[in-house]
Amino acid sequence: MIKIEEHKQPQVGLATEGFLNPKKLYLPLSQHTGRPSLPCVNIADIVEEADLLAKEDGFISARLHSPKRGKILNITEGCHPSLKRAKCIILECQAQEKEYSYRKNVESLDKEELREIIKNSGIVGLGGAAFPTHVKLNPPKKINTLIINGCECEPYLACDYRLMIENLREIFKGIEIICKIIEPDEVIFALEDNKTEVVKKLNLLISTKRVNLPKTKSAILKTAYPQGAEKQLIYSVTRRKVPSGRLPFDVGCLVCNVATAFAVYEAVYLNKPLIERLVSFAGDAIATPKNIRVKIGTTLKELFDAGYLKFKHEPRKIICGGPMMGVALDGLDYPILKGTGGFLFLSKNLDIAEEDPCIKCARCVDSCPMNLLPLELARRIKKEEFAALDDFSIADCIECGCCNYVCPAKIPLVHYIKVGKKYTSRKD
Ligand code: SF4
Ligand code: SF4
Repeated sequence: MIKIEEHKQPQVGLATEGFLNPKKLYLPLSQHTGRPSLPCVNIADIVEEADLLAKEDGFISARLHSPKRGKILNITEGCHPSLKRAKCIILECQAQEKEYSYRKNVESLDKEELREIIKNSGIVGLGGAAFPTHVKLNPPKKINTLIINGCECEPYLACDYRLMIENLREIFKGIEIICKIIEPDEVIFALEDNKTEVVKKLNLLISTKRVNLPKTKSAILKTAYPQGAEKQLIYSVTRRKVPSGRLPFDVGCLVCNVATAFAVYEAVYLNKPLIERLVSFAGDAIATPKNIRVKIGTTLKELFDAGYLKFKHEPRKIICGGPMMGVALDGLDYPILKGTGGFLFLSKNLDIAEEDPCIKCARCVDSCPMNLLPLELARRIKKEEFAALDDFSIADCIECGCCNYVCPAKIPLVHYIKVGKKYTSRKD
């Protein structure tokens, strides 16, 4: 792991704003790990907020709901931050807002009913991977330890931090639901030690026993990158190592992001599907970095047109996500997806221009949280020796970017590794 500049000010200290009345939404059918969802509406249909727009397609897939009342304008190709182009439902929105009423019988719901509500609400992991939550909450093995991930280790991003400050009780209600479903022996709420305000609130909640959970404790970890990566976090918190090619449940763990727990709360208590999320907007090219609650499908362009975001400098680089794992965008036409935690607008293009020869300093090896040999992987990929890559466990690379960051020769190691992964047999 590495120490990097956090760049989380001023956005961590600013109360969340809301932009919940967009004019148009662009809703890609592929916003989750697995097969894209299948539309169940037609062009010109009028839909209500929270209506189902697309059903899951197979076991690993997720539903998509309408974030607003409105009219389906089209179902066609549109911009997608990581796929670049993908099929999406375009909705012309009406300003009308839906009232959600509190569900009264939550206590009486059994684990199957709760899992069904989560599935029907289209919830996916909001920490970035967007894996369907109803599948994750049906593990094939006993889960001893539920780890709640509040680390948010990517620089600039602060939406999870704000959510924990403003909605910690609701997050715990979501965790109670998750515990009822998977019945862990213990719950560990993991935070980095830079989140002092949340650490205080969390420890107070736990010490005064105001949470209705099995054995619960906090784990305050040192601020380092990528502390919040799933396998790294499991090791930091439990000292259990997830073996190569295996999953967290193989060591009795399940990791859930704080925003996902909040989405579970909204689905179960308010009957509200996943149609909104909190997003960080940061970087030196915008006038005021901030966190905004937005409807899924809102485009960056609409946030700028509505005056919620303003440029201070010409942006030379726009990134969806954080600077370490995010993807570069070529404009503002991209929509916010379920798994989008933030956008960066930078006045300098940080791309590495030219790589120098490797000086064999081994800094990339020392920084790799997965104990890989990035220089060896890159060397083989450059020579197109793809057959050897599995021996170097290329599939274990989580593309965290640490090796790139520390390399004095400016070698784009992650770029090479991404290319190499396309030619290997094991896909994790
Ligand atoms: S090899 Fe992969 S996991 Fe290791 S530091 Fe580089 S990007 Fe991260
Ligand atoms: S950090 Fe860069 S220069 Fe150093 S060994 Fe790794 S690839 Fe080579």
